Amino acid sequence: MRTPFLAGNWKMYKTPKDTQAFFDAFLPLVAGATGRDAAICPPYIDLHVAIAAAAGSKVGIGAQNLAAGKEGAMTGEISGYMLKAIGCRYVIIGHSERRQYFGENEAGVLSKARAALEYGLAPIVCVGELLAERESGSTEAVLAAQFDGGIAPLAPEQFAKIVIAYEPVWAIGTGKTATPQMAQEAHGAIRLLLNGHIGAAAGAKVRILYGGSMKADNAEALLAQPDIDGGLVGGASLEPRGFIKIVQAAQKLAPQRGQS
Ligand code: PEP
Repeated sequence: MRTPFLAGNWKMYKTPKDTQAFFDAFLPLVAGATGRDAAICPPYIDLHVAIAAAAGSKVGIGAQNLAAGKEGAMTGEISGYMLKAIGCRYVIIGHSERRQYFGENEAGVLSKARAALEYGLAPIVCVGELLAERESGSTEAVLAAQFDGGIAPLAPEQFAKIVIAYEPVWAIGTGKTATPQMAQEAHGAIRLLLNGHIGAAAGAKVRILYGGSMKADNAEALLAQPDIDGGLVGGASLEPRGFIKIVQAAQKLAPQRGQS
């Protein structure tokens, strides 16, 4: 069974003071929510405040990136070992903004996913096609290449601890959302890759989140698709009242999927 999972990606927004204000408003709203997992991934400088604020709640905290390795002469970097030490549970890996602006590729995604798992963090590994790739009909080939290079080489038992986020790059921060059918097609393709690689029983347990302009008014239709197990939510996670509506949309669907 796959429990719906909603993770907020705050990107480069919010100071520690803003973070405290978010949790002061969000935690009472989310307190009664059951049957789903929720997480917030703030900037590094906000992690301490977020972890302290969320302590005792069911909201997990994650980082948006990590460096492979434990420690060393790596100016400006933060490792999974360090993130775990302060209480992070998740880390986003291979977000398209990191691929686009920081040159991340499949080899880097794989080594970061391995580092996350080594230090006890659940990696949220992002995959997704560019607009030109969708328009040329190569979405499934792109997803397969990203899966083969960045995810498939993990050890079979590690798949139980990962989350995959399908994020069509053309839908991120643009207000353009994949239709529920388009998103389901891509999620179905990823599920088939998983099933082919680790078997259908294990593949049915991996959560695949949708990301790309998910909001309160489109979340329910997206989350109703059989292979959409939650969302990686950017802009709409910055505001407590908007994000809680997405969490509540997921809650309506729980716990009814992935039984095989
Ligand atoms: C993201 O940053 O992962 C994302 C999906 O952003 P947005 O929801 O703003 O499109």
